[in-house]
Amino acid sequence: MYDTRKIGTSRNGVFFALKGINKDGITYCEDAYKKGVRCFVVGSKVSLPEDCFVIQVEDALQALQALAKYHRSLIQYPIIAITGSYGKTTIKEWMYFILKDHFRISRTPKSYNSQIGVAHSILELPIESDFGIIEADISHPGEMDALEAMIAPQIGIFTGVGNYYTHNFENQEQHISEHLKLFERCNTTITVEEFGSDLRRRKIQFQLAKKEKWSKFIQNRLPFVNNQLLLFEASSYLGIPTDVLEKKVNNLPQLPGRLEIFEGINDNLVIDDTYNIDIDALDQALEYLMASKEKTKKVLILETKGVEEFQKDKIIQLVERYAVQDLLVLENNSLVRKKGFANGSSDIPVLLRSIENSAILIKGPFNSSVNQWVEILKKKSHETYLSFDLKAIKHNLNYFRELIPADTKLLVMVKAAAYGAGEIKIPHFLQENGVDYLGVAYADEGVVLRRNNIHLPIMVMNTEKDAYSDIVRFDLEPSIYSFEVLNSFVYFLQTQNLENFPIHIKIDTGMNRLGFKPSEVPELIQNINETRFICVKSVFTHLSDADNLSSDFSEEQLKAFDDIQNLFGKGLSSAIAFHALNSEGILRYAPNHTFNMVRLGLGLFGYSKLPNASKRLLPAVAWKTTLAQIKNIQKGEFVGYGKSFTASRDMTIGIIRVGYADGFSRRLSNGVGSVIINKTPCKVVGNVCMDMTMVDISQVQCSIGDEVEIFGEQQSLFYFAEQLATIPYEILTTVGKRIWRLYHL
Ligand SMILES: *Cc1c(COP(=O)(O)O)cnc(C)c1O
Repeated sequence: MYDTRKIGTSRNGVFFALKGINKDGITYCEDAYKKGVRCFVVGSKVSLPEDCFVIQVEDALQALQALAKYHRSLIQYPIIAITGSYGKTTIKEWMYFILKDHFRISRTPKSYNSQIGVAHSILELPIESDFGIIEADISHPGEMDALEAMIAPQIGIFTGVGNYYTHNFENQEQHISEHLKLFERCNTTITVEEFGSDLRRRKIQFQLAKKEKWSKFIQNRLPFVNNQLLLFEASSYLGIPTDVLEKKVNNLPQLPGRLEIFEGINDNLVIDDTYNIDIDALDQALEYLMASKEKTKKVLILETKGVEEFQKDKIIQLVERYAVQDLLVLENNSLVRKKGFANGSSDIPVLLRSIENSAILIKGPFNSSVNQWVEILKKKSHETYLSFDLKAIKHNLNYFRELIPADTKLLVMVKAAAYGAGEIKIPHFLQENGVDYLGVAYADEGVVLRRNNIHLPIMVMNTEKDAYSDIVRFDLEPSIYSFEVLNSFVYFLQTQNLENFPIHIKIDTGMNRLGFKPSEVPELIQNINETRFICVKSVFTHLSDADNLSSDFSEEQLKAFDDIQNLFGKGLSSAIAFHALNSEGILRYAPNHTFNMVRLGLGLFGYSKLPNASKRLLPAVAWKTTLAQIKNIQKGEFVGYGKSFTASRDMTIGIIRVGYADGFSRRLSNGVGSVIINKTPCKVVGNVCMDMTMVDISQVQCSIGDEVEIFGEQQSLFYFAEQLATIPYEILTTVGKRIWRLYHL
């Protein structure tokens, strides 16, 4: 084990103190000790009570990997290894789905495919099984050697590499070569046609998953045909007869392993994972439920239909281990409360609506009837939503982390409900992923975060007098931008008898928004030195033109800020931090000018105006709705309010479920804006209404209920913003509150 949050009550475990991106595992040894661990593997000296058995090694990760390698050497059954930029987890889960009735299969939990994840996966492999399926992923050259040594696979699956994740590699050649190191010892490696020549050149035995061969099996309802081809070819290689395969592919689960998380009714957080109910998937989902910090009360709604009896016992044991407070099981069409409050109602909707302020996990088999109950828990039942790809967000976060020096702190701006992403989920995601600081525009936003269990330090940009008491009460850190605010805040602290209260100083180096002028700094330093009520934690400035490569105004600002840093350095006795760069600033200048901290904003969601940077980021937001009605109209008919549109020919229009009250601006009326239906752009016809919009679908094959993309993969947020002569920031922050926010993991 290496994560103290997941330690149960086991006294037999060994704790490996691994170095993480942000924290060294060594700092968690004490926590592990308190939880009963007595055996430790550490990379540096640590003082632990006498009843501990401590092994000090050069590198704890290497030790863990060596142990995994040893464990692997005891295993006789073949291991299938999957690598590539995409599809790994999908293919792994599908293989499991296809093979599980024929073989005993052991596989990587979740997407545990990193240096630590693979070691973990290998160590969990039982000695007896028929096949193991292990995922591997790398982000730097040289990383595959250690993974290959642990996995030692006999069969490979290469999903190919994309252009997205190449930034740490010299070129695409190297990117591919490094991945293919995994397959050097394999008897065969299965890949798709476009990568065949890459394997041939490297003398790796391979076999192609050809489209012609499998065209009959392809499921159009599922995305990414390549994943399917690889699955079919691999299953057939492992001896699954074609007729069995043909039957099974009809039931291939969609989006396997992708938890959907959304805000539910009664302040609930709902985690919807209704695609399979095998014990591993349940284990993962429960782990996610228990680890999520948003809500302290945890509820599990479970359906075990179709599960064999002996599995049921295991499921019950597993559920007991996690100690949810409330357990509801769907049996013979009624929902039975196994644990928690007294019986409640036998009426399912009533029972569901009585759950409040909890994290609710809904888990059932594919095609389960619990699906319909998910709908009841949704706060917003209409079909328009803004979706956030948490994987992409994590990729972006890590990309920014790699750009800045290791000792530079990372603050993420979550003002305006995290740029429209929703008040709670993204801040929690950031907290779980170890960012150092959060920033908000107003104290109120900070209060919401505190009320929802965010304990990171929070910096408030725009400090208002009326908010002083909230700032103190909720442990927020105000930015001070003028003598007036400084004096009144110090006076307030004095009346409260508070000393050394943390504040930040904002300097205006050219933007002419809030901030002290550089000329005011000497007097400011003097004032700060004369009061004991505040403690300056940082001094910062903001760039006004960072995304404009043809201007060097940012350099002028940064130079001015260097001078400010010198003044403070000389003038203040205590050590303080400095920061200047926003997202575009980091992308443009890091690792230079990062000072002690950077402030990330829009870049987190994968958008940048800088061409080189935008290639490396993953756009994470999509806005979708559905088609409510289809109408054929004749030449000469009007459409919408004000008769602003007259059909110049017979045409077909579609009515979509979004209007200006949702942030779909009325300025998009009459052909200014368009949406994508079935891969085709469809222009707005007539005026946008409050809740609905008409679009021209004359050229599209479509039917009622079809998905409509407002922006996302096909129509980029940048393009959409351009239609409105604005920027992505404004679009994201004005998507209506009533639109459901959906988060994919
Ligand atoms: C909003 C904001 C940021 C983040 O800006 P992005 O352009 O979204 O990266 C950084 N610093 C300050 C002071 C801000 O107000």
